[in-house]
Amino acid sequence: MIIDDNHYDVIVIGSGAAGGTLAGQLASSGKTVLLLERGGAMPLADQNVADVDLFRKDRYHPGEQWFGTDGDPFSPQTIYALGGNTKIWGGVLERMREQEFSGVQLQDGTTPSWEISYADLAPFYERAEQLYRVHGVAGVDPTEPPRSGDYPARPRPVEPFMQELRVALERHGSHPYDLPLSWSESHLDPTGDAELFGVDLARKVATVTVRERAKVRRMHVNPSGTEVRAVEVEIDGHAWLFSAHVVVLAAGAVNSAEILLRSATDHHARGLSNGSDQVGRNLMKPQLTSIIQLAAAPNSGRYGRSFGITDYYWGDQNVGFPLGSIHSGGGVLQDALFAESPPVLSLVTKLMPTFGLEQLASRSVAWWAMSAMRPDPHNRVALRGNHLEIHFVANNREAHDRLVYRWIDTLKQVEADPLTHVVKPAPTHPRGEAPLTVLGSVCGTCRMGSNPATSVVDLQGKSHELANLYIADASLFPSCPGVGIGLTVIANALRIGERILEAL
Ligand SMILES: Cc1cc2nc3c(=O)[nH]c(=O)nc-3n(C[C@H](O)[C@H](O)[C@H](O)COP(=O)(O)OP(=O)(O)OC[C@H]3O[C@@H](n4cnc5c(N)ncnc54)[C@H](O)[C@@H]3O)c2cc1C
Repeated sequence: MIIDDNHYDVIVIGSGAAGGTLAGQLASSGKTVLLLERGGAMPLADQNVADVDLFRKDRYHPGEQWFGTDGDPFSPQTIYALGGNTKIWGGVLERMREQEFSGVQLQDGTTPSWEISYADLAPFYERAEQLYRVHGVAGVDPTEPPRSGDYPARPRPVEPFMQELRVALERHGSHPYDLPLSWSESHLDPTGDAELFGVDLARKVATVTVRERAKVRRMHVNPSGTEVRAVEVEIDGHAWLFSAHVVVLAAGAVNSAEILLRSATDHHARGLSNGSDQVGRNLMKPQLTSIIQLAAAPNSGRYGRSFGITDYYWGDQNVGFPLGSIHSGGGVLQDALFAESPPVLSLVTKLMPTFGLEQLASRSVAWWAMSAMRPDPHNRVALRGNHLEIHFVANNREAHDRLVYRWIDTLKQVEADPLTHVVKPAPTHPRGEAPLTVLGSVCGTCRMGSNPATSVVDLQGKSHELANLYIADASLFPSCPGVGIGLTVIANALRIGERILEAL
């Protein structure tokens, strides 16, 4: 075991949406920060999702095997790299709706209150949008929560055929809005991410150390079990110990829970900070279904997401419960989520048997339907010996199905409209639910709350049981909204970062 000489102010574990952003924020305070990331820098050739062959089997799978509810192994789609899953995300950065913070009545149950309000997070949402250069237009999305001003930048132009489709949808009563998107200035990797807007800022500061290929195994506590004394890390096959005043877990909802469970001691027999038995539980991910429409003319298959529809977010005619949101999926060949839904494409192949993948993609217009989920303690990350198990059964399914069918109806109306020329009527609209392997948007395994009996950390992200342990990533989420969670992860990490700086 190699013991590092330094004692840092803060150790941050994981450099994704939460950890990368937090490291950038802490760096400007002059504190000594050690950022531990199990991956390395993603090669430039892999970074721009539009330029790679997403349908290559091992693309964006780290080569690990996890075990599903049925006991079968699977290979998760997740990224271990500087920037974490933001390296391959769609970059759609939306705010949760006000009501989602106080709890929402879903079709099959109620989501819990976050115990913080939208107003508490609003200033951090604003900072997050500035930091990640979010391009959008305020005031168009009918469900948009209150905001103090417009987005930092205007949307980039979209494909002309998508613009025409937007107008067609408006003719049929929909209210499409420009999806708020994070953009870099680089044409080599245009999507903004946590490496660019977090890790790179941190690296410039002399008091910050970034350790790549440093996989955190577990944490060690003092004899009375009240604080973290050291973080055990595997680097180049050697075990290292690092120490700090404050340790922040930001390894993502699956791996943060895993690290806590692996760190069990006599004082913390079920894992660190797990007196409530909530570590690993309440795993959630948005329900996602892709839907394909036939394009009238070929397109590149490689273009960004463009607009969203929230007309059914809170319900529909005669439906009094939330259904969720719709996104234009962007080009099929540059959507990493699509690469995980092969059944959809095989259905399209049946419709057009002579087509290859490129041709199929060029004739497709892709949509994503996304619905909220509520926490369920049986959905969880667990350890069986060295193996990581993911027990997951989606809930709120009827609402999601209704959203999918409602959207297909809308698409049919648009296709039947003689004024619409960019899409064609089709006998069926192939669709596919994102399988278990799609775990890039997981949340909820270490929920925050004021009650130590039912939560893992308090409302500031601090462990109820260990004086110097914080959690800052998606695992804190008490519920999973019907929009993407990335911006909320970033905003909440900035909020927690502020509390950590006050406490140091
Ligand atoms: C294909 C795809 C598309 C997506 N599109 C969108 C979108 O358009 N909009 C949106 O809002 N969200 C999107 N998401 C989801 C979004 O990327 C995640 O919600 C967000 O990145 C979660 O942030 P996090 O900090 O919790 O975890 P991550 O960003 O996953 O970061 C966790 C980090 O911890 C590191 N780590 C893990 N274990 C260890 C360990 N033991 N030791 C050291 N480091 C460790 C990982 O390597 C990683 O860098 C998408 C995700 C994927 C996969």
